[in-house]
Amino acid sequence: MLRAHQRVSLNEIPDVCVVNTCSVTDAADHKDRQTINQLHRKYPDAIIIVTGCYAQLQPEQISKIPGVDYVLGQNEKYDIPALIDEVEMRRGEKMQEGKIRVAAIREVDDFHGVHSADDRTRCFIKVQDGCNYFCTYCTIPYARGKSRNPKIEDVIKDAQVALDQGAKELIITGVNIGDFGRSTSEQFIDLLRAFDLLNGDYRVRISSCEPNLLTDEIIDFVANSKHFAPHFHIPLQSGSNEVLAIMKRRYTRELFAERVQHIRKVMPHAFIGVDCMVGVRGETQECWEDYLSFIKELDVSQLHVFTYSERANTRMLELDLYVVPKAERQRRSKILHEVSEKKTRDFYARHLGRKSVVLWESKKEGDQMSGFTDNYIKVYGPYKKEKINTFEDILL
Ligand code: SF4
Repeated sequence: MLRAHQRVSLNEIPDVCVVNTCSVTDAADHKDRQTINQLHRKYPDAIIIVTGCYAQLQPEQISKIPGVDYVLGQNEKYDIPALIDEVEMRRGEKMQEGKIRVAAIREVDDFHGVHSADDRTRCFIKVQDGCNYFCTYCTIPYARGKSRNPKIEDVIKDAQVALDQGAKELIITGVNIGDFGRSTSEQFIDLLRAFDLLNGDYRVRISSCEPNLLTDEIIDFVANSKHFAPHFHIPLQSGSNEVLAIMKRRYTRELFAERVQHIRKVMPHAFIGVDCMVGVRGETQECWEDYLSFIKELDVSQLHVFTYSERANTRMLELDLYVVPKAERQRRSKILHEVSEKKTRDFYARHLGRKSVVLWESKKEGDQMSGFTDNYIKVYGPYKKEKINTFEDILL
């Protein structure tokens, strides 16, 4: 039987700390280890449970970090409520070194539909998990398993519950969401159509979609929908076709540019965020210059820049390729960050004086509150409690 457990803020003393790790880069692993160390120092009596992708991929490595009591894989993390009951019985008794419990981690194959809210305003609806693409630099297929999804009707029930509980913005998430339908023989576009027919006053964002799966049909649907925000997040990863081939990505930069042009044609004010990786193996000086000139020309709003780091067991390490020195990776990352800042400034400038709608969030920043427009521009206004979680027409 589950007891009622209470989530506490970081200023209170918890009985249990759950660290849900990411392992997308070396930097992510490092941050996970730092978080665990900090928690152990700050709350020496708390039971520490580590789960997520890093735990799935490197359970033994994590079990050696001082303070860790349990290491759970992606499937096993759904046992956490039962574990917490056990913790109740063992309160105050930390695990002895060498007795850390590493769950028998099995291959990830279940789908656990979840929705989670970051505040009352926004709710993330997980519609898909795993990935079958095996890009040569990426560990995600190993950490999250094969692509799978629930049925549209189940996702939609979950989404309606979130709206009934007060959410005003739904964010469709997953690992490779454009691949939705693989395990139910349904279509991603039909999922989007169903999201547009929910009951309530709400908007929907698509978190991220691979360029080869973001068809013109989907873009046109978003442009004509009632509830979808004109906001896209598209992983490019490299602007060099040579590097895209090394990465085993499923598109060329020409296809990517066509997608962006089509969005701009039907939604000139859309926010377009783009994932960019720098310093991957094989990214010679010539490829980099090619990439940089392509990205500078692309009419997008922001770049999310990742610096490549070698990941164990990925296929890229088996290829005989030019290795970009670490300092050069950092230099390229800095350049792309500067390009991104300029693009975002230009994007904001284009909107000055335009009418928009903001959804106000709960956070108080001094005497201000903030929210996002449908096309993801952050705006500030005087704090008024009654405005939290409401839409308001504004002039930018
Ligand atoms: S599409 Fe490629 S980069 Fe994205 S999760 Fe799948 S393998 Fe990783």
